[in-house]
Amino acid sequence: MDQSIQSCIDHIAKDMRRREDRGQVAAYIPELARVDPNQFAISVTTAHGDCFDAGDVHTGFSAQSITKVFTLAIALGRSGDQLWHRVGKEPSGNAFNSIVQLEKENGRPRNPFVNAGAIVTTDEVLAGRAPKQALAEIVGFVRAAAEDSDIHINENVAQSELAHGDRNFALAHFLAAHDNLRNAPEMTLGTYFHQCAIELTTRQLALAGRFLMNAKTGSKLVSPSRVRRMNALMLTCGHYDGSGDFAYRVGLPAKSGVGGGILAIVPGIASIAVWSPGLDRNGNSKLGTEALERLAHEMEWSVF
Ligand code: GLU
Repeated sequence: MDQSIQSCIDHIAKDMRRREDRGQVAAYIPELARVDPNQFAISVTTAHGDCFDAGDVHTGFSAQSITKVFTLAIALGRSGDQLWHRVGKEPSGNAFNSIVQLEKENGRPRNPFVNAGAIVTTDEVLAGRAPKQALAEIVGFVRAAAEDSDIHINENVAQSELAHGDRNFALAHFLAAHDNLRNAPEMTLGTYFHQCAIELTTRQLALAGRFLMNAKTGSKLVSPSRVRRMNALMLTCGHYDGSGDFAYRVGLPAKSGVGGGILAIVPGIASIAVWSPGLDRNGNSKLGTEALERLAHEMEWSVF
């Protein structure tokens, strides 16, 4: 299997390098709009502990919404099922930053992966502490999961989003108006933007994803039942309004971010990270999705 993984991702990386239609980089965060779209990287780490990489694997990228997975694990660890009083578990069928649904549903976000839901989980993790402390816990979790202390927040990306975060401010104030925010909106959002600005390589992200790989044993960081449930949420809600299409094409639980990264889990077998900055119309990496579709097909990896 090992040889076929390496040759498969080598072929994929080579093909992706040549592609002209690469999607659009996220323009609403100016610091992300400057990223060169001609980049592609993929890493696979297996349950046996082997790692395989191809493409621009030494370049760090902005994890953005992929960090929502780690924050959710921490929030569930702190609050257990209480969290579900504040946020739902249903696919949204709306854009990642939509405000319409939040209004219709009285300030309870559809799931923890749309922005409003992630703002609530970040608020839960913040829990009256200084943002610095909550961020140290979040970054600490990612480092522990990856077993790599060289993972940091990119302050320029955080500030860039803070300066252009009107939609997220609107969502946070809306949550507060519905009594679904415990900390000041500015404080929760400051924490949220910094969490989204965690930067890592595909190798680091694939390693960090291992805690979701084994639903039988769980991991040092989360219990087996939580691994199963988080994977279920990733499958149904991990790609916003493109979640159904992604499940159909790739068939694996995964979470995307507007930095162009995707973390995908092959339960019991592998953790995969892919990165290409250009996005499709739903805000998911265009070539990243195609790469995962191909890898899953060629390796016959699917949860179905
Ligand atoms: N920080 C981004 C935002 O809040 C995350 C969105 C994403 O990665 O999908 O808009």
